[in-house]
Amino acid sequence: MAKQIDTNKVVRQHLEMDTFFSGGFAVKSRKSLRNETESAQKTQNTKTQLDEIAAEVCKCRKCELGSLRKNPVPGEGSPSAQIVFVGEGPGADEDARGLPFVGRAGKLLDKIIIAMGLQRSDVFICNILKCRPPDNRDPKLDEITSCLPYLQRQLEAINPEIIVALGAHAARTLLDTNKPIGQLRGRFHDYYTGIEKPPIKLMPTYHPAYLLRNYSHDNRARVWDDMKKVLEELQLPVPER
Ligand code: URA
Repeated sequence: MAKQIDTNKVVRQHLEMDTFFSGGFAVKSRKSLRNETESAQKTQNTKTQLDEIAAEVCKCRKCELGSLRKNPVPGEGSPSAQIVFVGEGPGADEDARGLPFVGRAGKLLDKIIIAMGLQRSDVFICNILKCRPPDNRDPKLDEITSCLPYLQRQLEAINPEIIVALGAHAARTLLDTNKPIGQLRGRFHDYYTGIEKPPIKLMPTYHPAYLLRNYSHDNRARVWDDMKKVLEELQLPVPER
């Protein structure tokens, strides 16, 4: 018959041995083990919430876009992301694949993320609208109103350090303002997920599609300046450009 293993005993013996040979270091590592377990649990909870939101988006028919889409695009990325990038809405490529920012603007966003010293998988990427507006027209008010609660719940679940609002639609919707993106970008604003919760810092910047259409040294420098502020705020190294 197979011998029963007492897991608690094995762990205790290992910790005792570690403590003995490392002069107390293992006591610290037991604490950090607990912290690691807690943060892994938190990440798992967030992932579950994000999966639930995505499942609701997939069934959603709150506006006409739900019946026009090929695929819904709820968003993708790390549930423990420090940064969430929010765009306007899926285009044709995103609609075809069900993934955010995978077309030309997405390729540029990938480059921006890599220039920041990060990977796409480190961040979370999503949109104000989860379904493609036909012919890439601007989102309508009723579409934003129907879809916004999904994004609000995603932001509440992830609770990132920073939200980067890509373009006027994302910035104006999240900040509930009509100001032009040129006036909003370049400084942090407060985004509230609830009355009793501390605000999340929100940095508006130009949409990558705008940058592609209006490429100039100055516009590129403006976006990079905004991303440098994000890195500085997070106390991450700012790569030389
Ligand atoms: N533009 C957006 O705003 N979002 C996408 O996902 C792709 C292009």
